[in-house]
Amino acid sequence: MKKKLVVLTGAGISAESGLRTFRGNDGMWEHENIEDVCTPGALRRDPKRVMDFYNFLRKGLPEHKPNAAHIALAELEKRLGDRFLLVTQNVDNLHERAGSKRILHMHGDLMKLRCMNHPDHEFMFKGEETLETKCPFCGAGTRPDIVFFEEVPLYMDMIQNALRDCDEFVYIGTSSVVYPAAGFKNFAKRFGAKVTCLNLEIPAHDPDTDVFVQGKATEIVPKWCEEFV
Ligand code: NAD
Repeated sequence: MKKKLVVLTGAGISAESGLRTFRGNDGMWEHENIEDVCTPGALRRDPKRVMDFYNFLRKGLPEHKPNAAHIALAELEKRLGDRFLLVTQNVDNLHERAGSKRILHMHGDLMKLRCMNHPDHEFMFKGEETLETKCPFCGAGTRPDIVFFEEVPLYMDMIQNALRDCDEFVYIGTSSVVYPAAGFKNFAKRFGAKVTCLNLEIPAHDPDTDVFVQGKATEIVPKWCEEFV
């Protein structure tokens, strides 16, 4: 039987490309206050500060190159075609630069902005967002295409349908503490999927996960992808 696969990635897959994770040593939230840059309240209080934070992250992206794990997933997608879906919690563009096409950015995308008035008006953006940046569809103001804390992640219907329908769910480089993504393994398991975890740290006990592979993403992901049939 030809298996359907859903992959979930988190900040750990980009760590070896030099992008900081959220919670590890030297994690991003040790340097910034979530309340200042990543909540709807922050955007209301001080939109410029929020825009500048994401301008800074966007500007730094070209320095970071896709690593062997991003590339292996793009190669696996070529092999599996529409039996493959990549869901990422990451807002970086390293999966796309490695060649991934069937990808959903459930927490948003640094390379896009959204209209303040119409959430479905989203568009690719290079450069610095300012208070003067306008939506190309309706002329309203813009915001980063980032799902802030307290906001609902994107593409949830499509993701749930894929999880219901898949034969295997693998989660890679995520601490599995941010919901709803942290609940995907339990959801997929209840609908009969095999659940695999590839991560640097392995939890002591997790009844939803059938297979754990511990190690660095650049070492364990290419091997796992090669062996996937
Ligand atoms: P997290 O920081 O909570 O957890 C990262 C996980 O990756 C940890 O379990 C850690 O053990 C593991 N890890 C670290 N280095 C690794 C490596 N080399 N190989 C394999 N695993 C490694 O990240 P998360 O679970 O994705 O947290 C959720 C939030 O972090 C998301 O909302 C996401 O948007 C955001 N985030 C994204 C980026 C990015 O776009 N690159 C960066 C930081 C945070």
